[in-house]
Amino acid sequence: MKHPRTHVWKAAAATAICGTALAGLRTVRGRPVRSVPTLAAAGAGMAAGGLMAYEWLTPRSWLYGPVFWHARTDERVVALTFDDGPCHPYTERLLEILDREGIRATFFQVGNNVKREPNLSAEVASQHEVGNHTFTHPHLTWSRSGTVREELLRGQEAIHEATGTLPQLFRVPHGWYGPQVISGAEELGMRCVGWSVMAWDWDRPPSDVIQSRILHGVGPGGVTLLHDGQDTDAFPKADRSHTIAAVSDIISSLRASGYGFLTVPELMELDASRRA
Ligand SMILES: [Zn+2]
Repeated sequence: MKHPRTHVWKAAAATAICGTALAGLRTVRGRPVRSVPTLAAAGAGMAAGGLMAYEWLTPRSWLYGPVFWHARTDERVVALTFDDGPCHPYTERLLEILDREGIRATFFQVGNNVKREPNLSAEVASQHEVGNHTFTHPHLTWSRSGTVREELLRGQEAIHEATGTLPQLFRVPHGWYGPQVISGAEELGMRCVGWSVMAWDWDRPPSDVIQSRILHGVGPGGVTLLHDGQDTDAFPKADRSHTIAAVSDIISSLRASGYGFLTVPELMELDASRRA
């Protein structure tokens, strides 16, 4: 089923093309470039084109279909999410911390890594929510629908084989949701998930920087993004020591500020109940 917003983004595309074309045509026909109609047409065309590009490249996309990236609430709750695992030994350390703190988180696993460490993937799934993060962690931004579907299906199969569960959440690698990515995930029964705050932890900044980036950006109903793995790499190429070292302090600081912790589906439920 096509999402109703399909019509909205096609209208934006039409505005982008028609506005730019009209301005071009007027200019070619010798009308003054600085005339109001020409500038208005060019402005509308460029604004619509800019919106389309922005929506394509943001993890909070709206135009091409729904991407859940926060809950509309004043309640101090947050969902911790971790991408690119499972990855030994970081995922195990993270599980220990979350277990000790009594927190359930949401893990977006890469199918290739699940195949490499199926037992670790199953251990994560036994305690936490698991979402699909493709099979090979590619840039899907400009991929055809068939490529998107294959990446998502292979990710589903790997996770299902290892854990017995079929994910209902999907997060695109690198955060860029094109319309074919959102519709591809929805066709396979998954909702797309973005984030409200991240720490650029793939660049391995010091732990205190990771901590302060999350704490400065977080708000009620937020979704944090951190990494327990690195693309399809294994240890020692994958190094998430700085992230794991930051997690305990992030949790205790959030708790001290009155925050509670939900999984992404729980946050979605909260959002839906507020809207009802
Ligand atoms: Zn990723």
